[in-house]
Amino acid sequence: MLDGLIVGFVAESDAKLVVSALRAAKVSGSNGVSSHLEIAHIPLSCCGYGGAFPGLYLFSTSSRMMRPVIQQQSRITENIGSLEQAFMSIRCPDGRQKPTCIAEHAHEEIGPGTILSVVASLTPWSDFNQSPRNMYQCQMAKQTMGMPLHSFCYRPDTKIYRLHTPQRPVAMTGQYDRYQMDNYPLGTNAVVAVLAHTGYDMEDAMIVNKGAMERGLGHATLYKTETVTLVAGSDENFGQCNMIQQKLGSPIAFTEKHPFDPDIDADGAPRPGSMKQAGSILCSVVDRSTGRVRLHKIKGSDHVIIDRVSISSGKSSKGQTETKMSVTVRCDRNPIIGDKFSSRHGQKGVLSFLCPEEDLPYIEKSGSRPDILINPHAFPSRMTIGMLLESMASKAGALDGRFIDASPFQAANDEAHIISPTREYGEMLRKHGYNYSGSETMVNGLTGERFDVDIFVGLVYYQRLRHMVSDKFQVRSLGPNNPLTQQPIKGRKAGGGIRFGEMERDALIAHGSSYLIHDRLHACSDRHVTSLCTYCGSLLAPGANIQMAAAHQVHASGAGNGQGNLHSFDDIFPGKVSCRVCNTGTGVHNVALPFVFKYLAAELAAMNIRIGLKVGDERV
Ligand SMILES: [Zn+2]
Repeated sequence: MLDGLIVGFVAESDAKLVVSALRAAKVSGSNGVSSHLEIAHIPLSCCGYGGAFPGLYLFSTSSRMMRPVIQQQSRITENIGSLEQAFMSIRCPDGRQKPTCIAEHAHEEIGPGTILSVVASLTPWSDFNQSPRNMYQCQMAKQTMGMPLHSFCYRPDTKIYRLHTPQRPVAMTGQYDRYQMDNYPLGTNAVVAVLAHTGYDMEDAMIVNKGAMERGLGHATLYKTETVTLVAGSDENFGQCNMIQQKLGSPIAFTEKHPFDPDIDADGAPRPGSMKQAGSILCSVVDRSTGRVRLHKIKGSDHVIIDRVSISSGKSSKGQTETKMSVTVRCDRNPIIGDKFSSRHGQKGVLSFLCPEEDLPYIEKSGSRPDILINPHAFPSRMTIGMLLESMASKAGALDGRFIDASPFQAANDEAHIISPTREYGEMLRKHGYNYSGSETMVNGLTGERFDVDIFVGLVYYQRLRHMVSDKFQVRSLGPNNPLTQQPIKGRKAGGGIRFGEMERDALIAHGSSYLIHDRLHACSDRHVTSLCTYCGSLLAPGANIQMAAAHQVHASGAGNGQGNLHSFDDIFPGKVSCRVCNTGTGVHNVALPFVFKYLAAELAAMNIRIGLKVGDERV
């Protein structure tokens, strides 16, 4: 079958011969067979792994995915397609002299590294790591800040990050240069010491040298673009002079809440380079026909600098001409406590403490201090040996003044002559007068005492990830409440709280901390004091029935028949609360309860369901 059309018939017994002849013609280019022909032979199912549709399928159309492999006999590179590779046996050179599989191989992979994707092939010594760690790194490499592009000055991206001090890693794979990653670096080389120190590096937290941070480690900028659209069909315009507005003393545009902003230019747009506080005015738009001014405020809680302003216009999907102004703002995002970092081995961690440089442990011999301290417990269970190798090798490379090839599967290429990286870089370290195993004698910067054990110190390429506390922290004391239930609203943006659910409640019950649970679920939520009639148990019947009280008063004083004495003191005085069902206020007491409960009672009352509360008197 050629490109989906039946062109001929081949007996199953001859199919193999036809395939090998076609492959030979394909690689030699003879008989007009294209080198991009896909020859998929699906054998009859009796041979073990046949498909449902045995046959010989040839594809010659364009835009098919193909990849190169080596024909084992002729040693010629052949491009194979996605269907045929499923029915071929392709050997992977894994560095062993004897093939581990007895199956026949007609083809061979170009190298063992071809199993790796672009992102995966950037992990140094990934063959020394536990495989899930390599996958974690692939996820995290996409979240790094680094240098994502070079066209910052032309692109109005909604949100994009940029690292100020990206570096080329000392230890990198062969693919790093092949993909020209130097144009898009992902992180910074950091001096990393592996020790449990002060307890601030527990559970994947990491201590960062404050001095190193202040010298630029991990400094980054966040670019955001806000778009202001003019109302379609109206006579709105950018470009009304604010100065004139100010001179005219326009009462609409600039109020006490939004005072005149000198950084808004005469055209109503912000001035590039000016600094803006959170919530200040971004630009002003004027309706020329009415003279009404609309002010746009800056979103978010960041202190920003106006980077760029551009105005563009065009036809919208409805055919109307739309004019938009894109304002790109930038703000500094230098590392603070709670920001996320990771090495290239799936070892992510949170910055827990920016340690003053003078308090950090230092290397006894050189006096130098590490940039990052991580906990040794990060290694045994994760088995990221590649990171230890990278640490040692980068240190050796830095001392030797050269970059290190950290490609995976190096042993596969030249097994006889390859020596283990530990030995190779251990010797290199020793040559430079360092410890063979990469450890150093260190001195505690707080006490001045020497550590009993040597500390493993090396260079690790660290990536700063784009998950930052300043985008995530949520805190609230007093704030907006839901008008219906009077409970605090949810959502970080709206200034709401974090849900305190049943499981949290259970935890507090288990701890016996009933005052805390009362505080969280009642006092800090929708505590409400209302009247309750203890006679009929109704929440809704008691009310400040002024009319009734007034009527009683007339009755008591006007008639003068003495019946007024039957009524309570509360009833007679207006403004006092009485129950409309029991016609008396003697049973009415103030109770504190969640407002939603009163709301529930009201909702049920609307459906003719009455809630009655049995209230005992505490004083009895
Ligand atoms: Zn009552």
